[in-house]
Amino acid sequence: GFKLPELNFSYDALEPSIDARTMEIHHSKHHNGYTNNLNNAIQGTSLDSSTIESILVDLDMDNKGLRNNAGGYYNHKLFWEVISPVDNENISNTMLDLINKSFGSFDSFKDQFSKAAATQFGSGWAWLCVKDGKLEVCSTPNQDNPLMPGVTCEATPILGLDVWEHAYYLKYQNRRPDYINSFFNVINWNEVERRYAEAK
Ligand code: MN
Repeated sequence: GFKLPELNFSYDALEPSIDARTMEIHHSKHHNGYTNNLNNAIQGTSLDSSTIESILVDLDMDNKGLRNNAGGYYNHKLFWEVISPVDNENISNTMLDLINKSFGSFDSFKDQFSKAAATQFGSGWAWLCVKDGKLEVCSTPNQDNPLMPGVTCEATPILGLDVWEHAYYLKYQNRRPDYINSFFNVINWNEVERRYAEAK
């Protein structure tokens, strides 16, 4: 079965951008719930020794339980890996060049990504993805993600932002744009670049 991944930092390491209480509940309750429900959904089926990526790529989108919990497991695992304590990770010139080439400038990328995150109605995720070697921004509802078949942006996600209220409500209440802006303080660009190289 799948295990709840351990974080590479303490719950309070991302203060003040993401508060400790939110991190603790998000990881130990929400992500733990998706992990347990995923394990229950695949137990005794042919999927119980599959990788999470292969479960998502070959997903039956009508299987709502598996869709929500496999998505929830994968999305949060990615999320914890692409954030890190403030000032710990700086963006490389390689990654910056790539973003400039794809979006015109870093600010333009930030605007597009922030808009995707802010305008995702209700619960969902904003993504930076690789498709045909190029970078793209998109969003998906609920726990869907770009690896799933038939979603609006089928691609390989390399950065994701959780915009479910459980990800920000304790600190930011209804101010989702402030949470999105703070997220840019804690992006682990080394990990995003590693994922880009792997996806390409
Ligand atoms: Mn979440």
